[in-house]
Amino acid sequence: KLFNEVQDLRGNIRVYCRVRPFLPGQTKKQSTIEYIGENGEMIVANPAKPGKEGHRMFKFNKVFGPASTQAEVYSDTKPLIRSVLDGFNVCIFAYGQTGSGKTHTMSGPDGASEEDWGVNYRALNDLFTISQTRRSSITYEVGVQMVEIYNEQVRDLLSSDGTQKKLGILSTSQPNGLAVPDATMNPVRATSDVVELMDIGLKNRSMGSTALNERSSRSHSIVTIHVRGKDLKTGVPMHGNLHLVDLAGSERVDRSEVTGDRLKEAQHINKSLSALGDVIFALAQKSPHVPYRNSKLTQVLQSSLGGQAKTLMFVQLNPDSNSCLESLSTLKFAERVS
Ligand code: ADP
Ligand code: MG
Repeated sequence: KLFNEVQDLRGNIRVYCRVRPFLPGQTKKQSTIEYIGENGEMIVANPAKPGKEGHRMFKFNKVFGPASTQAEVYSDTKPLIRSVLDGFNVCIFAYGQTGSGKTHTMSGPDGASEEDWGVNYRALNDLFTISQTRRSSITYEVGVQMVEIYNEQVRDLLSSDGTQKKLGILSTSQPNGLAVPDATMNPVRATSDVVELMDIGLKNRSMGSTALNERSSRSHSIVTIHVRGKDLKTGVPMHGNLHLVDLAGSERVDRSEVTGDRLKEAQHINKSLSALGDVIFALAQKSPHVPYRNSKLTQVLQSSLGGQAKTLMFVQLNPDSNSCLESLSTLKFAERVS
């Protein structure tokens, strides 16, 4: 049964593209997305290059247009969550430039109603619901860690004193080892417990930075849900984990315009996103060498990238034609790993 489910997932890396709508109050609405097909095709038009030359086609597992709902965007993800409860590791990412809708897709808007819930909440709901339906045969224990990677330093977002201490990473050669053993692990029993923790994590994340948005666009946030199960009849243990990752903004900064801290931040982000791209690319190519060691991000996520693990990447786009070049660079990143 397990085998069939794995087969059904058709490969271990899936890439979904999501184009966010124009925002209320945005006046000049020229979209750079010219066409979205039923089967994951899309065409991007570069307004600076009229004609054939300025049109580029991409193809992903799926493309969600601006009118797509949170429920539609999540709708195919449940089998991945089930596989976490079967003992597999899963990584769900949002990638894209700042303002392209990464946090909207993963978390949903602040104080969202059920309908607006993002992938995180829906995934957790499915996780707890499925574990309940299995409770006569398997018992589960669920724990949550939340860390941030900023300037190639890993920080705990759930430490009780809110100090965000810097943490070390263990190389996880065994698939179920903890990559960040010293990050606070909180036991949870329901989605609401996790939501509460993520709120605390978000508050800790904004400490020491002038504006939440600033910091959140320049650091990666990683929520890790550790699931330990035990088969009541056979006593066989299992361990799966789910990483929910809101990546730092992928926009390129103009080297001639930024200096000092801002340049350092940009270089760190650039380095870690390229390292992520290189790892997923190597996995997709079935390359014998996967360069996990090149960034903290890929080290923390190592056990959930490759092997039997499954990866889902939401590639986010701002439709505005002013963002065309950023969108093309986002799409090229996605194309390389898909
Ligand atoms: P990012 O996290 O990539 O910087 P956000 O998720 O903060 O981007 O989105 C930027 C803005 O666009 C926010 O105001 C957000 O509410 C809005 N937004 C993003 N995606 C959608 C969507 N699918 N529907 C409605 N509003 C959206
Ligand atoms: Mg964000």
